[in-house]
Amino acid sequence: MSIKVTQELCIGCGACVSLCPDVFKINDAGKSEVISEENVACAKNAAESCPVQAIEVK
Ligand code: SF4
Repeated sequence: MSIKVTQELCIGCGACVSLCPDVFKINDAGKSEVISEENVACAKNAAESCPVQAIEVK
């Protein structure tokens, strides 16, 4: 499995970071980036909660 955040789509709302602080962090550009790909289950939840579908889990 891999977890990706499409930087061009992310609006930096922070929802994914709130749900899965062990998976995502807001980077210097104000966008979410993946810091660990271990917690795929949480990342799937975050993907469903992302308002712009920027998170891909596959
Ligand atoms: S939930 Fe989506 S838009 Fe919000 S910070 Fe995460 S990846 Fe970006």
